[in-house]
Parts: sequence; structure tokens; C-alpha cells
Amino acid sequence: MQASVTYPCRQCQAPLERALDGGDAAPCAQCGAAQELSKRYQENGAVLRCPACDLKVLYRQKDFRQALGCVVVLVASILAPFTFYLSLVAAALIDAVLYWLARDVVICYGFQCRAHIRGLPPGPGVLPFDLSIHDYYRGLARESSEPGDESPTSESGGPAGPETDKSQS
Ligand SMILES: [Zn+2]
Ligand SMILES: [Zn+2]
Repeated sequence: MQASVTYPCRQCQAPLERALDGGDAAPCAQCGAAQELSKRYQENGAVLRCPACDLKVLYRQKDFRQALGCVVVLVASILAPFTFYLSLVAAALIDAVLYWLARDVVICYGFQCRAHIRGLPPGPGVLPFDLSIHDYYRGLARESSEPGDESPTSESGGPAGPETDKSQS
């Protein structure tokens, strides 16, 4: 399977797909912007960095085709009355096998990038999705796109505990 990356064009946001064969990537078909992919995205055949934006923070998830899984469940539920509902059990098994067979796709956390890298195994530092990392990069993207934005620091010192006066007579 040919390794490839899908990502939005940095200039016009058109979705692009480029092969990761080490050669020069073709310019964007829509706006003509040159596409420079990082050459150091992999090490020992595993993905380490985003080829599109060079970010080293990536996550992996199953490239599971949910549409296919839905079709299986739909067919199974139509057949259910005729198969004593065994078709639903079969559908669950088929879905589990499909999920197990699905390859990993490596996705860039870069908020404007979100590059999907297929056809290469994730490197050792590529972990499953982490919402806190995602939020961090979304915050970075927001800061860089809105300069001079007031930072909403609404920390009011925490709850002030009532003073315990020991005026015991
Ligand atoms: Zn473009
Ligand atoms: Zn990226």
C-alpha cells in the first residue's frame, strides 16, 4: 500500500492528497500553491512527524469505515425476524472483525492541519487521541488567528474560607 497524506492546502484549504514517496509533491490544483512536504516525517518506516506541517504531536486511530459497519447492522436488522435474531449476533462479530482488520491512521494534532497519514505504521511516540492535547493545539490556533485577544482569566482566587476566630471564653 502506497503511503499517503491527506491535508488541507495552506493557502486555499482545498483538500489535498499526496503520496509520501520522497519526491516533490505536486502543487495545489486549485490555487497553484507549492506543496512542500517534510522529508523527515518517518524513521525506520514509522511515522514520527506530520509531513504537512512538521508537527511532532500526532495521534492514531483505527481507520474503521463506519459506513460499512452501519450497512452490516442494517442488513442484519432486516434479516433478524427470519434468523431468530442470530443475524444481529453475526453483525456484531463482523463489525468486530472489520474493526480488528482496520489499519491505523495517523492524524496530526495541528488544528489547521489535521493531516491524515495512511499506509505507514505509527511511531512509538504516536498515542491514541488525547482531548487535552487537542484542546491545547486548538487554543494555540485561536491565539495565533486572533492577535490581541484578551485572555479570559476568570480565576478569582478560589473560595475564601470563613475565618475561624477562636473567641472562646
Ligand atoms: Zn490551494
Ligand atoms: Zn500537521
